[in-house]
Amino acid sequence: MSHYRDLQEECFEANLLLPEYKLIDLTFGNVSVGDPARGVFAIKPSGVDYTKLSAADMVIVDFEGKIVHGSLRPSSDTPTHQRLFQAFTGIRSVVHTHSRNAVAFAQAGRGIPCLGTTHADYFYGEVPVTRPMTAEEVQTAYEWETGNVIVERFANLDPHEVCAVLVHSHGPFVWGPSGKKAVESAFALEIVAEMAMKAFQLNPNVQPVPQHLLDKHYKRKHGATAYYGQKS
Ligand SMILES: [Zn+2]
Repeated sequence: MSHYRDLQEECFEANLLLPEYKLIDLTFGNVSVGDPARGVFAIKPSGVDYTKLSAADMVIVDFEGKIVHGSLRPSSDTPTHQRLFQAFTGIRSVVHTHSRNAVAFAQAGRGIPCLGTTHADYFYGEVPVTRPMTAEEVQTAYEWETGNVIVERFANLDPHEVCAVLVHSHGPFVWGPSGKKAVESAFALEIVAEMAMKAFQLNPNVQPVPQHLLDKHYKRKHGATAYYGQKS
């Protein structure tokens, strides 16, 4: 029995939520679940069909990128996850998908503005888009540099208030306090991207919600003054 069975189980279950929420086409998607105390994370193996996965297949990688447990190759996006675990202290899970509406914004090079309360319930303001990556970044350590452009984009943002980003011309990375929560936020991101796109079609000049509405919806679900839902 692996020392990391708990992480592998959580990671496996979170990965299975991706097809359940219809967030992936083919094998474009992966979830990692980290344990900051042990300095390791579990991640989906590369290119394995979701119907053939098991918890024991989840690869354990340390925060320096070294495989510490597992016989399969980890997802090719592993260095991006590693970079985010290093930079965004306190997060426990990273999700990457190519969900179609979020990707549409990434391909258009646009962030997703907060146009309504569904968005404000999950993200405290615009979900930003990174700058395009340079030829050198793409040709050298591509997946690691993908993490770096995300960290660069968050230089003046709090990753605990906006738990998602769009990598330019690529797609979303989302994070959270557990595998389940991070996938839920990835699903919410896809929903608000679709809603935003339709709102822009109906009114190309639609504006973000005012600060008081953003504050109300975000803060009743997050932080010290939250009161929405049941206390856990
Ligand atoms: Zn990708």
